[in-house]
Amino acid sequence: MIKPKTLCITALLLSALFANAQSGWQPTQNELAGPLNFLASPLLEGRETGKRGNSIAAEYIASMMELYGLTPAGDVWQGEVWWFQDFEVEEKGLSCRNVLGMIRGDDTSKCVVVGAHFDHLGIRNDSLFVGADDNASGVSGLLALSKRWKNKEQRPPCNLIFAAWDAEEKDFEGSKYFVENFNSGLSSILFYINFDMISRSDPQDTLCNILEIGILKGHEESKEMIERHNALSVKPFILDFWETDGNGGSDYKCFAHHGIPVMAFFAGLNADYHSPADTRDKIDWDKMIRVLKIANDCLEKILYPL
Ligand SMILES: [Zn+2]
Repeated sequence: MIKPKTLCITALLLSALFANAQSGWQPTQNELAGPLNFLASPLLEGRETGKRGNSIAAEYIASMMELYGLTPAGDVWQGEVWWFQDFEVEEKGLSCRNVLGMIRGDDTSKCVVVGAHFDHLGIRNDSLFVGADDNASGVSGLLALSKRWKNKEQRPPCNLIFAAWDAEEKDFEGSKYFVENFNSGLSSILFYINFDMISRSDPQDTLCNILEIGILKGHEESKEMIERHNALSVKPFILDFWETDGNGGSDYKCFAHHGIPVMAFFAGLNADYHSPADTRDKIDWDKMIRVLKIANDCLEKILYPL
């Protein structure tokens, strides 16, 4: 049995060790609610790829990135880099648009990518699918995280790319296109963090305390990192890991397929998944804030491993 005094010393040592990595940052409900409520508004008509509401969502995300002081990281247009990466998927008749912003780091030959899809299902059989949890929640978290990193006095050690993916609901076309057309070479991507559905819980998770996280198959470091940060948090989650080597249900799969380490944050399969009832009033703000806090703690550790 460990004596209480030894336990105290161990706790002190642990907190000293992780002092750098536990930033204490977490988003406020207000900063999350603005983008989430806008993106999941009925006015955006469910943000289906190629439709008007989807274009408005892309413009809005770009304007938020601009407001937060990010650097555009999309296509070159008339000699200037802009926010959008446009592409067609001809066999599906789709015009798609990823939104890409960046924070330049000290070493610009390497990057970490943080992503969340902004498209959803649109209007089907006269029913409107606003997709509040799927995935206005993830995009809102992405924006909050980008603001937090831009506001830091210190530049990150490598580039940070914040990507809002289009066409996830059309078989992950947005992230697939990004990965297949990444000019700097995939070996320059150190890590990929994904947010998809981070604000609800599985109905069986009655305490709303389970966090599901996908990691690259065999990448034990990711698992250990998340477990350590979770154990140090005020209210730890029950963690439920799964592994991917390129399979899966969200944009992380294209990165994992190329052997890039991933962390895919998913708060649970709620009862309103892909139904018109996935609305703003059901968001669990407390859970969403906790998910983003642990994701940010991990990002700190990825960028500052020592
Ligand atoms: Zn989704």
